[in-house]
Amino acid sequence: MCYRSVTMQPMPPTPLVNLYDLPRAALGELLAGWGYSAYHRDLLWEALYRQQVESFDALTGLRPDLVQALRERTRLERPTTHHEVFSSDGFTRKLLLRLRDGQTVETVLMRFKDRATVCLSTQAGCAMGCVFCATGQMGFVRHLTPGEIVGQVLHVTRILRETNESLRNVVLMGMGEPLHNYDATMEAVDILVERSGLALAPRFITLSTVGVVPGIRRLADEDRPVQLAVSLHGATEAERGALVPAARKWPLAELMDACRYYSEKRKRRIFYEWALIAGQNDTPEQAHALGQLLQGMDAHVNVIPLNPTVGYAQRPSGPDAVRAFQDILAGYGLPSTVRQRRGIDIDAGCGQLKAAVERPRRAPQPTAS
Ligand code: SAH
Ligand code: SF4
Repeated sequence: MCYRSVTMQPMPPTPLVNLYDLPRAALGELLAGWGYSAYHRDLLWEALYRQQVESFDALTGLRPDLVQALRERTRLERPTTHHEVFSSDGFTRKLLLRLRDGQTVETVLMRFKDRATVCLSTQAGCAMGCVFCATGQMGFVRHLTPGEIVGQVLHVTRILRETNESLRNVVLMGMGEPLHNYDATMEAVDILVERSGLALAPRFITLSTVGVVPGIRRLADEDRPVQLAVSLHGATEAERGALVPAARKWPLAELMDACRYYSEKRKRRIFYEWALIAGQNDTPEQAHALGQLLQGMDAHVNVIPLNPTVGYAQRPSGPDAVRAFQDILAGYGLPSTVRQRRGIDIDAGCGQLKAAVERPRRAPQPTAS
């Protein structure tokens, strides 16, 4: 064996692995490398995701030497609360969570009569730049790790446990574009659905994408256990491009090809999201163009009246315009639902709480017309 004389600068210490970053198989490999069997992996997994222990001290069911190895070589790191607000009806709780490096992301817990839903962030900021979106207005900071995505779920399950409630729905509709952070997002999904852990039902996990074409195709090929929602907002190249800059990279024709590929391969309905903006994309022309685009496909349109943001001066469509838009879609056989964004009074739109907490508030400017 040859030893080099060490005169170089010392290497920076390898960051300790966050246990929440590891899907079950990867956790097994880590432990196997230290000489522990799958039995020990299973005990640790249950402690992390069934009992939801929060410290190494609480790992009382594990062998002391394994706990010591974990203490020395791993970390148990969850996001912490930086700021939180409740909606006036008390059913929506919006959390601004702080990550290891001080970045903050939004997580929204929505309680309904018989179920709870969490809206998760997948990135700090977003590179896609949709003009009406508070996160898009911030720009991209970084991808979240799987553990930072899973950590948001553990944060809300801890809250729900206090009142004996459980989490049913997960929507990947918070800050960031999940298909721009594909691997980490899918590893997080794998952790969430693992039966011996959190055991969330795949049919209750919805991933919303701005239309990252390679990601949609990969999702179709890999048969990931999620429902797919595609944010359209415009049914012509010009209209979509004006609202969603990413559309210039993945034009509508390519996006729809990818959606058809997904639908045919997975035999699953796609939800299409449409932020309805007064006088912009709520016109009969856009409604007809959308009807023609989706006619014959297994599609459902979710219409979301625009949630006004500081950086975008337009207004949401009124109830009459919303109804007229839906009526035209119905003429093409397209079902649609109006989604009021819950917790508007607490800035619960994507990226809005962070914008409000970290920047002085300014009223949106009226449009010049
Ligand atoms: N990046 C993904 C998921 C996060 S955004 C995506 O774009 O799909 C989740 C949804 O909220 C998207 O449909 C997005 O267009 C919508 N959205 C963002 N800001 C909004 C706003 N101010 N008003 C209404 N919908 C908004
Ligand atoms: Fe990013 Fe989605 Fe916001 Fe667009 S709407 S900027 S893709 S988070």
